[in-house]
Amino acid sequence: MNNDELKRLVRTIPDYPKPGIMFRDVTTLISHGEGLRATINNMAEPFIGKGINAVVGIEARGFILGGAIAEKLGVGFVPVRKKGKLPFDTISQTYELEYGTDELEIHTDSINQSAKVLIVDDLIATGGTLEAAGKLVKQLGGQIVAAAFIVDLPDIGGSKKCEQLGIPCHALMEFEGD
Ligand code: AMP
Repeated sequence: MNNDELKRLVRTIPDYPKPGIMFRDVTTLISHGEGLRATINNMAEPFIGKGINAVVGIEARGFILGGAIAEKLGVGFVPVRKKGKLPFDTISQTYELEYGTDELEIHTDSINQSAKVLIVDDLIATGGTLEAAGKLVKQLGGQIVAAAFIVDLPDIGGSKKCEQLGIPCHALMEFEGD
């Protein structure tokens, strides 16, 4: 399936979780067998043979995608989780969401020094989540090669901001507006 066909499998829920937000729901895409396979293939494809050493996935939808992409690239998967979920020593980073604030954590021993890292999540809006995950990876000595998403919301400006911070953003599709 091509990315236009995949886009038609994403469901839009207006005013969720609060008025004014158009929630781009990827559960309808990832519950579609062919759609899931094409999503993983298309997200991983630019990074095959690029020397990636680890895939970092952001809780929770980044886990579904990141684990499968890591397997495809033949590397390990590292979770970035919401505060209080990881059992070993962690470092943490507070960040702002499109709706609210939150805190992310990563295990201190999860990234090797100078490892080439691909960060994965389902969607980039303000880029706050990616920026926070990127800071955690850099603090552990990892080099961020790129970030991969299903959806970019370019009008919100996160992907542009993250490119300016030196993180190339790859997305399979864009939705206009916010
Ligand atoms: P941001 O930090 O603003 O780039 O937001 C990205 C995170 O929030 C992702 O993990 C998304 O799952 C979620 N998110 C933010 N805005 C939306 C939206 N309009 N539709 C679906 N998910 C969203």
